[in-house]
Amino acid sequence: MSGITAAETAFYRSLRNGRFPHAVLLEGGSADSRRETAASFIAAWLCESMNPPAADEALSLSGKLPGESAPCTLCKHCRKALQWIHPDVMVLTDEEGKQIPVDAVRALLAQSIVKPSEAARRVFVIENAHKLNQQGQNALLKCIEEPPPAVCFLLLCPGRKELLPTILSRVTAYALPGTDEEFSAEAADAAQKIAAALAQNDEWGVLAATATFDKAKPLLQESLRALKELLRAGLLRTSGAEELAQPLAGEQLAGLGSGRLTVLLERVQSLERDIERNANLALLRTRIAATMFS
Ligand SMILES: [Zn+2]
Repeated sequence: MSGITAAETAFYRSLRNGRFPHAVLLEGGSADSRRETAASFIAAWLCESMNPPAADEALSLSGKLPGESAPCTLCKHCRKALQWIHPDVMVLTDEEGKQIPVDAVRALLAQSIVKPSEAARRVFVIENAHKLNQQGQNALLKCIEEPPPAVCFLLLCPGRKELLPTILSRVTAYALPGTDEEFSAEAADAAQKIAAALAQNDEWGVLAATATFDKAKPLLQESLRALKELLRAGLLRTSGAEELAQPLAGEQLAGLGSGRLTVLLERVQSLERDIERNANLALLRTRIAATMFS
């Protein structure tokens, strides 16, 4: 991956503004891009230049002596974090796609009372958090609700559909572009129908394609993530990409042009934020078509 992702920029800004999330969800992207961005997040949490010594804190808050706006990548914490060898970073992952057993979660959490050995805090990473079962997520929830001092949690997953709403309400989420999430047939089908209607500028078609969402918020959210993938495929197509993961939809949507596709992607993202905050699905559903054609 090249350059700093929007997720990193947003996370660094949050730290610099003194908003210090103790539980972060990093979703979307590929497994590799998630891991790479996670290492940058961890470096930011631990970097010496982003964590000025206590004596400087007042100055730093007054803006006279600001800490750096990104991890330096050179201090010992950055170097170890970026190589995944920092002793204050614990990683729990699934075994070859199997569920993560609750005992493994408990074993990880048991270490959260241990003091950091080198850095100012410890970071607990759960890779493939979507492989946590309900028990595991509930065990984790207790710890996220009242995090021990100097502990941060970082959950990585392709998409949030397997995570409990109680977990989602307590994490600060950052999204990477694209995803290797495997969408359910229902969500993929709904996204294809919406994409086809969009390609034909058919507002009623979009409304009809969203009819199944009235009672299923997770399906709506998943379908919008699938739709974003189709829109991105269309955008790639307009920039001349030959090989597409979504050839048909990419082909159809490309006819809308890159400007319209970019607007549509932004609209879907704003809808996603509305959906997070709003429980009235019937109302949201009618807003989908209206938003995309306004
Ligand atoms: Zn550093």
